[in-house]
Amino acid sequence: MYCMVPGCTICSKKTKGSDISYHRLPNDQQMRRTWLRRVRRDNLPKANSCYFCSAHFTPDCFEGSLKELFGMKGKKALKSGSVPSIFPFLHRKPERKLSYKRAQIREKIAKDEITSEMRKKYPSIIHQYDVWHLSKWIKKNLGKKVKTKINESLLKWIQSVSNHLWWCSQTCGGDAEVLREKWVSILNHVVNKHRWKNGKRFRKCGPGRLSRRKERKTKWLEDGSAAYVALEGVVLNKKLLKDIEKLTEFHHTGDNVEVHSQTSSFFIQRHVGQNPIGSD
Ligand SMILES: [Zn+2]
Ligand SMILES: [Zn+2]
Repeated sequence: MYCMVPGCTICSKKTKGSDISYHRLPNDQQMRRTWLRRVRRDNLPKANSCYFCSAHFTPDCFEGSLKELFGMKGKKALKSGSVPSIFPFLHRKPERKLSYKRAQIREKIAKDEITSEMRKKYPSIIHQYDVWHLSKWIKKNLGKKVKTKINESLLKWIQSVSNHLWWCSQTCGGDAEVLREKWVSILNHVVNKHRWKNGKRFRKCGPGRLSRRKERKTKWLEDGSAAYVALEGVVLNKKLLKDIEKLTEFHHTGDNVEVHSQTSSFFIQRHVGQNPIGSD
């Protein structure tokens, strides 16, 4: 008799005199299918020569007390309804790792296919996803920075900076340069500087002026402070600056009223309205 479990080398020749026992497939068809499914084997031997050795069953699967079981040699009876659960292939780590990696690759391919298909069909939804994705990245990274005590003052700005990205993508008019300049201008705004010279297309926050009260109330960052440098690191991140170029498509979404009304809640009118940037 040979055990049919892949990877198990137990056979009656080797186990003579031991307390290893061999068990045929159960008669119940459904149980039989369960056993065979668990064994993960394609080329099944004939049913009457299918044996499972006792090494694949937990002790509680056998009739009688454990003491009795291991004291006696030879036949052990399985309780009805027992299923094999100990398999050598469940413990081979490298194989599992490989298949996990493979699954990841497969998942990525499937995702990419969906995204490119979606890009064609629903550009505005995908666009919204892009902005959401990037603003999440920004929040996450600023969140990491404020964990350091010296950067604490940045905490109040995280939401505003993330909102700023939505505002930039909505107001750039499809122009990547404008979008970029608007985006980096946050580094002026946070230090209470609302006009600057080093921009080609965008040189002031606006259109409204910040009220005196608002200006007093806002906790501006100090230029060159640790918190400011930390913010700068995230805002000017090379990959981010490249990725935000994708956000220029937003002005096309006017035709999709539903999506537009959803995102318009993110529209921040700088310096005017109820919630100007920098407040919370
Ligand atoms: Zn076996
Ligand atoms: Zn400003």
